[in-house]
Amino acid sequence: MSPDHDVQRFACQSCGADWSAGEFGAECAECGGGALERQCGFCDGVCGAVWKRRVIDSWDEAEAQWIGGCAAKCSSCGARWGVMAHGPGCAECGGGSLIRPCPDCDGACGMRERDVAASWQHHVAHWRATCNQPTS
Ligand SMILES: [Zn+2]
Ligand SMILES: [Zn+2]
Ligand SMILES: [Zn+2]
Ligand SMILES: [Zn+2]
Repeated sequence: MSPDHDVQRFACQSCGADWSAGEFGAECAECGGGALERQCGFCDGVCGAVWKRRVIDSWDEAEAQWIGGCAAKCSSCGARWGVMAHGPGCAECGGGSLIRPCPDCDGACGMRERDVAASWQHHVAHWRATCNQPTS
C-alpha cells in the first residue's frame, strides 16, 4: 500500500524533478526553467523580479505556469515596460514595452523582444534578433 500521490511533495510530473528541493529539469517544459521560483523570464532576471510557480496549473497543463511579471522600467522616462507601458517619443522605449512589432519592417517579420540590459546600457531601445525581411 504505497501512496502514489503525495500532495505535500511538489515535484514535476513530467521529469520527476523535486521542486521542493529546488531541482528542475533543464529541458523540461513543465519545469520551465525553475523549481518553485524562477527569475523573470521576460528579461532573464535583470529586473530583479521573482516568479512563483502555480503548481496545480503546471501539473494540469504539463507546462510551467508562473505568477509574476517583469519589473523593468525605462531608465530614461520611467515607463513600466512590465505592464506594457512606454513613453511616446522616448528613444529608450523605442515605441514599445517588452515586445513590439519589428521596427525595421513595421512588423512584417513579426514581433521582437526587448533586450532590457542593452536598452538600459545605451539608453536606446535594443531589440533581440534581427529583421529577416529583405531591405529594398
Ligand atoms: Zn520537469
Ligand atoms: Zn523582468
Ligand atoms: Zn522611456
Ligand atoms: Zn522585421
